[in-house]
Amino acid sequence: MKEIPVNISTNTPDKKINVRQGGCDSNAMLKGLLTLEQARAKMLESIAPITDTIEVETMKTYGHIIAEDVLSPVNVPNYKNSAMDGYAIKSSDIPTADNQPFKLVGTSWAGKPYDGSVNANECIRIMTGAKVPDDTDTVIMQEHITVQDNNILISSGHKAEQNVRCAGEDIQKGATVLTKGKLIKAAEMGLIASLGLAKVKVLRPLKVSFFSTGDELKGIGETLEDGQIYDSNRYTIFGMLQNLNVEINDMGVIPDDREKIEAAFLTAANQSDVIITSGGVSVGDADFVKETLEKLGQINFWKLAMKPGKPLAFGKVNNAVFLGLPGNPVSVMATYYQLGLPAIHHLSGNKHYKQVITKARVTEPFYKRPGRLDFQRAIFSYDEKGELVVRGVGMQASHILSGMSLANCFAIIPAESGTVNPGEVINIQPFEGLI
Ligand code: AMP
Ligand code: MG
Repeated sequence: MKEIPVNISTNTPDKKINVRQGGCDSNAMLKGLLTLEQARAKMLESIAPITDTIEVETMKTYGHIIAEDVLSPVNVPNYKNSAMDGYAIKSSDIPTADNQPFKLVGTSWAGKPYDGSVNANECIRIMTGAKVPDDTDTVIMQEHITVQDNNILISSGHKAEQNVRCAGEDIQKGATVLTKGKLIKAAEMGLIASLGLAKVKVLRPLKVSFFSTGDELKGIGETLEDGQIYDSNRYTIFGMLQNLNVEINDMGVIPDDREKIEAAFLTAANQSDVIITSGGVSVGDADFVKETLEKLGQINFWKLAMKPGKPLAFGKVNNAVFLGLPGNPVSVMATYYQLGLPAIHHLSGNKHYKQVITKARVTEPFYKRPGRLDFQRAIFSYDEKGELVVRGVGMQASHILSGMSLANCFAIIPAESGTVNPGEVINIQPFEGLI
């Protein structure tokens, strides 16, 4: 699998993909719709990454983003040390004949260096990671020697400076180890610790507020009346935020009521960097979210050439970035991963966010009409040759959340494509690492 930047191609089908084209004029169908690529570009260019910094203890840095370049105050390793358990000698003593005797004069342990001198035809026992004495520069693996009384017998065939790790081999003093905008994960935590740094300057975590809108929504524990459903989007959104280092503010369900929606937006804008809502951004009669936003902020209402997820609102309420996701549960997830997540990473200062896309061979047809870029819910697996294959999960409507749970990837089918048949190759986006 390879990592590719977030600019997933939306309207140019991959040349290698032999996708069957439908009979409709897809350009006409796309009139007035924004491609995913266009929407993502507009979002990213309108968001200025945060600049506020905080200092965090090294053990608590996971998921934070480096705020300023980290330079190494030391060489790592900071002394010449052995890569093997063995015997250290001078390279000028490397034998040219077999079984040459060396006098054993001491031992260098990891953490307890040998502090004597080593003369010609002498050696010391040395452990992995132990300091190689200045008098020596070559380590013979213990498997390559013979012990005879007080002597160590070493044969020919060794190279000068073998099995020795130089000071600064990993990191040189003064080198830039981590750059601004780097997301800290396990390797970076260890790297910071290897420099002896107790704290690191990182960008402040974002505050994200979210709420659901809709008169039909009830909370868990409430009795459903006729025409009502449980609010699931808020739980999905809460789940989708878990992998991010953000402060989460769950504001519950707001009914389709002008004043309550307005109050919720103002509260959210006051206490957060990002506001995420679901529902109310299409053209239904009770969709006051749209009306309120038009009054309160600088909001764009987009019709995306993407399926699921046609209506989407994006903009600002006061200083907060606003993301108005559609109401249907699968549309919520698809638009969050394709647009919301890149936007949040960008705002948080992460300069290296990428999504993984790879190719898989289709084993069962993916039914589709030309028009919009499709993110169908699918299952990838490996065939008997170890190659990636993919099939759909069945029902693909945007309210079928169970399909998201059955799936392990999105099957990405280009806008112009019609039905994709077995044997054809498409792009897939695995959920692992994404969701
Ligand atoms: P809307 O965009 O508000 O018209 O919603 C579109 C569809 O998504 C409707 O069928 C809503 O009932 C459904 N929906 C909206 N919000 C939620 C939610 N929080 N949980 C589950 N379904 C929702
Ligand atoms: Mg609604």
